[in-house]
Amino acid sequence: MTAELIDGKAIAKQLRRDLKQEVDELKSAHGITPGLAVVLVGSDPASEVYVRNKHRACEKAGIMTRDIRLDEDTSHEEVMQAVQQLNDDPLIHGILVQLPTPDQVDDEAIINAIDPNKDVDGFHPVSMGRLLAGQPGFVACTPKGIMHMLDTLDMDLTGKEAVVVGRSNIVGKPQALLLLERHCTVTICHSRTKDLAAHTSRADILVAAAGRAHMITADMIKPGATVIDVGINRMEDGSLAGDVDFEGAKEVAGAITPVPGGVGPMTIATLLRNTVDAAKATA
Ligand code: NDP
Repeated sequence: MTAELIDGKAIAKQLRRDLKQEVDELKSAHGITPGLAVVLVGSDPASEVYVRNKHRACEKAGIMTRDIRLDEDTSHEEVMQAVQQLNDDPLIHGILVQLPTPDQVDDEAIINAIDPNKDVDGFHPVSMGRLLAGQPGFVACTPKGIMHMLDTLDMDLTGKEAVVVGRSNIVGKPQALLLLERHCTVTICHSRTKDLAAHTSRADILVAAAGRAHMITADMIKPGATVIDVGINRMEDGSLAGDVDFEGAKEVAGAITPVPGGVGPMTIATLLRNTVDAAKATA
């Protein structure tokens, strides 16, 4: 059996195209150009790449971006000040602080300082609380993007066994809540889970977000399952690998995302989605 390839690149492209239309309408009807500010402290090469990709995608969709680049040794207070200024700026609808920041900066305090109405990353406790309570609000881009991907598969999620490997605040936990909201029966696995394979092998939907290259092998997958690989792992030869052993898994799964070209493009497209929603809320 060879799984259907879930083409995140193509799904994200369509989402960005739709967003461009919404942005054009927002501009012509309300004179509002969605604005996203990205705060980058220091010059971590991986962060630089992410920020560049975000900019390119925003530009294509007609979203204005502003970079706040701060030196590696910027104090915590200065970063807080930068966030405060963006909170007060009516041209900025979404604020994203590229994490992790250098050691002297308290990431948690910075996230908590972002105006929840501009929290397009969905990391603020208010956003996370709303998600938990089933109230509308910003949802972290990666899990929200994955839900969008699943929706393109024309699959009824109700009653499906969903297993999420990973319990981080930015992927695993919100992913589990979103699947629960759609009436899946959800299991969350983590590093202390005993017999991971016993759980993964009964998943109709398996989301791998552990950050461990190739840890999900074919024998851990239920035949016909939908496998979403969130992991981005840099290998010794410089290539990228997911958490799923793609070559083996594609022979067992019903549908599977590749790495790269799966979840990654959806994360960025969903950031744009959230930014446009933040701008719309001010119309
Ligand atoms: P974290 O390191 O914050 O969380 C990893 C989670 O995986 C933890 O909950 C950890 O458990 C669990 N875990 C680690 N090892 C195992 C194991 N052997 N068995 C079961 N569970 C395990 O990572 P993130 O959630 O931030 O990211 C996960 C992966 O997704 C990374 O590779 C990251 O690069 C990628 N990523 C990709 C994105 C994209 O757009 N494609 C966006 C965001 C992340 P415990 O809590 O017990 O420590």
